Amino acid sequence: MKYLSLPVLIFSLVVSVFADTIELYSGEIINGTIAGYDVLSTKFIPESVAVPEHKPVKPRSIYNFRIKRTIPGNTYNDYLTAKEACKTADDFYKLAEFCRKNQLIDEANKMYETTLALDPMHIRAHLALGHKKQGEEWLTVEQIKQAEGYVKFKDIWVKESELEQARQVDYRKQVESALPLNLKLAVIPDADDEWFKVYSQQLKEYARQLWTVTEGLAYLATVEITDNATDSDIIIQNLDQYDISNAKDAGSFDIAQIGGKASPRDFVRQCVFAKLKFTSHENCILAKGFSTDKFCDMCLARIIASAPNIKWRQDWLPDPPEVKITIVNKQKK
Ligand SMILES: [Zn+2]
Repeated sequence: MKYLSLPVLIFSLVVSVFADTIELYSGEIINGTIAGYDVLSTKFIPESVAVPEHKPVKPRSIYNFRIKRTIPGNTYNDYLTAKEACKTADDFYKLAEFCRKNQLIDEANKMYETTLALDPMHIRAHLALGHKKQGEEWLTVEQIKQAEGYVKFKDIWVKESELEQARQVDYRKQVESALPLNLKLAVIPDADDEWFKVYSQQLKEYARQLWTVTEGLAYLATVEITDNATDSDIIIQNLDQYDISNAKDAGSFDIAQIGGKASPRDFVRQCVFAKLKFTSHENCILAKGFSTDKFCDMCLARIIASAPNIKWRQDWLPDPPEVKITIVNKQKK
């Protein structure tokens, strides 16, 4: 102990103050202190930023939908420390029991598995994992379920014949937990059937982009598109240009405007300005210029907060719901 310098001692005292762990859906584990909550985010002071003791510690906002779980206290670090010291199957079994009692379910299961890797006949570890003995062999839950004709769909077991139904239910739940946007588009020039046909295909690309950048949180439900018109959520100024002629900063219009060949990114931005009233936003698809093609976490959290049924899903599906397109092809007066 006498070889430890003073700063190291202070460091270890500072560290002992921090006593919370957060796991994000990305798998990232962060130690620190929860400094507060609000509707959208958790204020968190990561351990690493607190080391220089004279500097003010800045909390980091982590948007709640990114947090898989919060582990209060030093439980997670106690688990890591104890794991280092484990040697025998019984050591790992005891640690598994500690984890289970402290709601570290993933870690408990891993430790039961490690117990069995060291001692394949460890009865209590088998029982804890739900294994069943058949003759001399232990069967895993997977083996038991598969023998009974079940298949695993995400985290539930379904009969093979009911797999398609389970997929459909899952898909419906995804759609129900996302925000539908119903959009009116007005095309200023006169457009012909061929143009509407091409534009309908383009709308599907736009719909896919909206779905992807919102991680399955928002989708184009319906689009009504009328030519020789100006009354709408978004005005399409020309038929075949990427940009509009009198381009101003996006988001500054009273009514969102785009060109007939606008990029999916530009379309999504205008769509969000028009329907959600979000404003231009740094480090986000809503930024001016081309900084990123992603929504920032703050904007995603705002979409989630916009209605109680909207939920972010870690397993959001790759295909958006199909957009229903209504074409009103008017003749030029
Ligand atoms: Zn943003």
